Amino acid sequence: MNEIEIASDTIRVSDEYHPSYSSPSADIVLLSEDGVKFRVHSSILGTASKFFNDMFRMPRSSAENRDDALPMGESSEILKTLLDIIYPHDTNPVLPSMSFAFVRRLLSAAEKYDLARVTHYVQLVTKTEPFLSRPLEVYALACIFGWTEEAHRLSLQTLNLDLSSPTYEEILTSIDSASLYKLFQLRWKIKKEMAQAVQELDSEEIDEMRRCYCSNFPRGHTEAWECLEMFIRGELDKYPDGSSLRHPKFWSHGGLDKLWNLKCNICDEPVVRKSGVNEYIIDILDHGMPDF
Ligand SMILES: [Zn+2]
Repeated sequence: MNEIEIASDTIRVSDEYHPSYSSPSADIVLLSEDGVKFRVHSSILGTASKFFNDMFRMPRSSAENRDDALPMGESSEILKTLLDIIYPHDTNPVLPSMSFAFVRRLLSAAEKYDLARVTHYVQLVTKTEPFLSRPLEVYALACIFGWTEEAHRLSLQTLNLDLSSPTYEEILTSIDSASLYKLFQLRWKIKKEMAQAVQELDSEEIDEMRRCYCSNFPRGHTEAWECLEMFIRGELDKYPDGSSLRHPKFWSHGGLDKLWNLKCNICDEPVVRKSGVNEYIIDILDHGMPDF
């Protein structure tokens, strides 16, 4: 081991090269933050990156040795992953971690060193599991790295997430305020649309929602209808895509019994058909939502 001085920090540098990148035919040495050396081919780096291409075209000082290490300011794990992606290996590169923090760091390094192939590869990976199940993380990456088209599509996939859950705190704080605003605006829009439809429920003359036809649809029982509205708003706060309203559990909640038990003042039978209201709300979810 020997010591090397980099930006006032002294790090321990191994005399050995990383076993995957130690070819004697390679002409450049990259050094990771944690002191691991990678012997690599300038031709491969230069082809993959304009940054390196420009750098290698600069005249090198005669005092420089081909074994002088180039400090990269990245961990050995990130550096190896970058190289695994840009080198023409026989097998597909594997990301050593699928965590949000790692992928974000990898994309930052790719951006810093102008490695478009790395960005492209990671974008493909985020279209597979486990990222398919983590749309908020991919939305955050799309916002951070300017994948504009992706961001919109992904924002729609985040609708059934409860963003108030502490699970999402780290990811939400990584998103810029304009993108965060868009994410919430989408939710407000849906909630407003649904609240409006629910408010109009007690004045709707919809046969499927009636159980008796003695008189007009019961008005003046606004308290019971308001209760339904309040419940629906609560569910949309948690799941703005309305997915929980599709669940029978929502409709069997005891808090709604008052509405289902509303009696007709002529025949004394219940007047509101639960299944009819349920179907009406689901129909709004299916067809009446705002276009994005
Ligand atoms: Zn009646």
